[in-house]
Amino acid sequence: MQEYKLFINGEWATSSTGETFDDVNPATLETIGKLQKASIEDVKSAVDSADDAFGKWSATPAPQRAKILFRAASMLEDRKEELSRLLTMEMGKVLKEARGDVQEAIDITYYAAGEGRRLFGETTPSELPDKFCMTIRRPIGVVGLITPWNFPMAIPAWKIMPALIAGNTLVIKPASDTPILSIELVKILEKAGLPGGVLNLVMGEGSTVGSAIVHHPKIRAVSFTGSLETGKWILGEAARDMKKVSLELGGKNPIIVMEDADLDLAVDGIIWGAFGTTGQRCTAASRVIAHEKIIKELQAKLIKRTKALRLGNGLLDTVDVGPVINNSQLRKIAQYVDIGKNEGANLVLGGRVVKPLAGYFFEPTIFTDVTPDMRIAREEIFGPVVSMLSAADVDEAIRIANSVEYGLSSSIYTASMRNAFRAIEKIEAGITYINASTIGAEIHLPFGGVKSTGNGTREAGTTAIEEFTEIKTVYIDYSGKLQKAQIDV
Ligand code: NAP
Repeated sequence: MQEYKLFINGEWATSSTGETFDDVNPATLETIGKLQKASIEDVKSAVDSADDAFGKWSATPAPQRAKILFRAASMLEDRKEELSRLLTMEMGKVLKEARGDVQEAIDITYYAAGEGRRLFGETTPSELPDKFCMTIRRPIGVVGLITPWNFPMAIPAWKIMPALIAGNTLVIKPASDTPILSIELVKILEKAGLPGGVLNLVMGEGSTVGSAIVHHPKIRAVSFTGSLETGKWILGEAARDMKKVSLELGGKNPIIVMEDADLDLAVDGIIWGAFGTTGQRCTAASRVIAHEKIIKELQAKLIKRTKALRLGNGLLDTVDVGPVINNSQLRKIAQYVDIGKNEGANLVLGGRVVKPLAGYFFEPTIFTDVTPDMRIAREEIFGPVVSMLSAADVDEAIRIANSVEYGLSSSIYTASMRNAFRAIEKIEAGITYINASTIGAEIHLPFGGVKSTGNGTREAGTTAIEEFTEIKTVYIDYSGKLQKAQIDV
């Protein structure tokens, strides 16, 4: 079995305690790798090496840093198929989606490399004569990156690549369920010529390894994607040292379907949004809010199409829906089904763990007659469960959409321009799709949410650079005399 090590100061290292843990394929329960479990001492070494590397890396011209990223992007492309298969084995998502995960990493790497010749600041006129004003972008310093398991390659790449091009040095801790794809990403960057110490990788439990990153005094910023609970904790802890924190957290994303919508198109979008990645996307469609005139017809079409979905090992072409990530997630989903039934929602499809399969499989599940106050309509389940709610008009649908604490993605299916613009203006979410599902972010556009989904930052697009840089304002006075702003005007 393949062993995977920590990457500290440009060396592949074993843990100082010698402890290891296993990486398990959720579709087969086979162990696919043995991983070194970092100690607090290992985290300290990783942060120290990132700190030592910062001076040289941040002084390297960004277009030179970009050359390494361009090479890495090309190497990722060459290995796309092999990495996608590995990703399916590690995380469970079906192969075509795994290819999408790797493609996102390729895209963000090329995109971030391109930013190496931009990293724009601003110039503005001064209010005084013979004075020049501008802003420049500076790296933050040593940045800690903590990532979840549901996009094992895309999310680490979304953070690593913009952070590197901006001149930061890094310590990444991938999710314990899926660290191998991050390791492959690091290997590629090493081969592409990234100097030792610039990017360090540690693995192990969030409560020890992740926490040690968050608390280390030399870590100046933490970029975190994961659950609301962990995100809140990190924000509180990091605030004590005034660390910059960026949080991408959960979602309870609605698809609104109006009476004038193309219902077949809407069903396509619901199936993809609710059951793609087995519902384990932060942008997954877990609520369908349908106009009361068409809800019965929509439900009938959705149930028919969902029944045809085939579960199994995502490496097989015949499979539509893979496993969930682990046993605790499987149990959590089953508990939510019980909660939904006890609350009085109508379980019309699925609702059970799939027994004959070896891995962690749960049936695609549909609840109807769900009301906005029910827990299954408010809390993130992160599994293949969709709740159907009814609304009398677009305003009520939007009120229901906004009645949860999250605000990541959202969607409306309608033929009406008025409904579409009402949704764009009124839905409280970072992303709104019109006549498309809640999933499908493109890397050159900002990604993130409002309310409890985050703390205001946006990843990807030009905002990715904002996340990983500080702005410095520069005044150059070439008048040769003392000039006082606000006073000498
Ligand atoms: P999680 O339990 O919060 O874990 C995320 C990461 O944080 C993992 O690496 C975890 O390590 C680590 N961690 C846990 N406790 C920690 C602590 N006390 N200090 C520092 N790090 C800690 O979330 P998850 O279950 O992996 O991911 C699912 C969640 O992520 C869902 O809520 C989903 O909506 C959200 N998500 C959001 C986005 C977005 O962009 N908005 C994208 C994808 C996923 P271990 O793996 O060792 O526990």
